[in-house]
Amino acid sequence: EVVYLNGQFLPPEQAQISVFDRGFLFADSVYEVIPFYQGVGFRLQEHLQRLAYSLDAIGLQAEQDWPVLLNELVRRNGGGNRSVYLQISRGSEGRRRFASEGKLQPTVFACTTPIRHIYDEGADRIQGYNVILTDDLRWHRCDIKSTGLLANLLMQQQAHRAGADEALLVRDGVLSEGTSSNLFVVRDGVIHTPRLSAGILGGTTRALILELATDAGIPCQETDLRPEALATADEVWISSSTRGVVPVTRIDGQPVADGQKGPLWQHMFALFTRFQHRLMTG
Ligand code: PLP
Repeated sequence: EVVYLNGQFLPPEQAQISVFDRGFLFADSVYEVIPFYQGVGFRLQEHLQRLAYSLDAIGLQAEQDWPVLLNELVRRNGGGNRSVYLQISRGSEGRRRFASEGKLQPTVFACTTPIRHIYDEGADRIQGYNVILTDDLRWHRCDIKSTGLLANLLMQQQAHRAGADEALLVRDGVLSEGTSSNLFVVRDGVIHTPRLSAGILGGTTRALILELATDAGIPCQETDLRPEALATADEVWISSSTRGVVPVTRIDGQPVADGQKGPLWQHMFALFTRFQHRLMTG
């Protein structure tokens, strides 16, 4: 295994950063998680656009040829199906203070881990998720993909303690997203999802679902969703890059509709698989 740190490809134990790195001290850093299938980045441009958005939102300039860097990292790790983690922090000025003076050299770190190829698995092998509802403990800038993930971790722990796979978050009486996923609710053949202005992360998989649904003539609505709406939903899904689109079959111990994976989810999974296939075969 090799990781990338500030211009070098290294074994992880040789990759070191300063204890004064602002990413370490303050989570003054942003990140991306990008799946690579058969060595090729999936929705790479979309991830890099979001990275540029996050960097811009925290006033951090870090120009690099990201595709070249990430492709080289994946190649050096043997290609295949991998999730790539890329983190950019504001760097270190050799001491701890809130306001950093002048322009620091950003710290750029990337590593990979093997993942399953979700689109090759077949819909039958995807297990429905069991989720809980909880108060959204996070700050008001969840549109930034920041490494300040303590609230996300605590809510994820709460889900795990309850024997659930994920927590759906409620803010001011409205559903926002999962701790590391976006949310979809299907009713009467219409796909509903929270608006980006609800203070959520603009998920690349969320965008792809809306794109594929629109192309297939399935109506979509970006709208406010109240937790009460879940009780009468036909289907609930969550989405993320490494998990794709996953059916939620239980919420707080109650089945969603009949507790089975729904037909529109099956359809969306098939659209995903076809999309992925077309990419791989050109
Ligand atoms: N929402 C949050 C809070 C996330 O952390 C993530 C990804 O991990 C997502 C949504 C899904 O985003 P994407 O589909 O780009 O992976």
